[in-house]
Amino acid sequence: MILEVVKYGHPTLRKKGARVESVTPAIKELIANMFETMYAARGIGLAAQQVGEALLVTVIDVREASAERPSTLELNGQPADPHKLMPLVLINPELKSVGEMVAGPEGCLSFPEVYADISRPEKVDVVAMNEDGQRIEFRAGGLLARAIQHETDHLNGILFIDRMDSDTKKEMKAELDELQAGTKAVLAGKKASGTPSKL
Ligand code: ZN
Repeated sequence: MILEVVKYGHPTLRKKGARVESVTPAIKELIANMFETMYAARGIGLAAQQVGEALLVTVIDVREASAERPSTLELNGQPADPHKLMPLVLINPELKSVGEMVAGPEGCLSFPEVYADISRPEKVDVVAMNEDGQRIEFRAGGLLARAIQHETDHLNGILFIDRMDSDTKKEMKAELDELQAGTKAVLAGKKASGTPSKL
């Protein structure tokens, strides 16, 4: 089922996700729906917060973009094919930065039409639980590292605009304010129309 992707201004985007202790049928269903939603929107990553659930669950698939923006993967210190890890589910991910900061373009399904260069560490060491409830551990680089950091930020209520440099954020202020106001207006409207009429 394709879920609604919430936009900037929705309160759930600022919520820190709750830990997921086990992969219940409800979590499995959420993961399947998140993949369906992400692929339909042609995204490469989606966090639970973006479909209105404050949980430490994210889905990623960088294969579509890999020709233009490659990824790297190391398993137990050995280079591996990042595509073998796709599609990737990270539950309760914990990251450790490796390497220097690199700038690269980013967008976000919760910020339609907003793109900016964001500086992030080049590589990350990742420990997480997968969709089978197993512990996974690897080192990611390139686009995969960027996607994992962007999505893990979502899980902690952090948005890519928080990582924009101040000049970029200033340039985009009007656009961002408009997006936020639009989302809030829609939410207020939903609440109003959701109130049952007294008969
Ligand atoms: Zn995002």
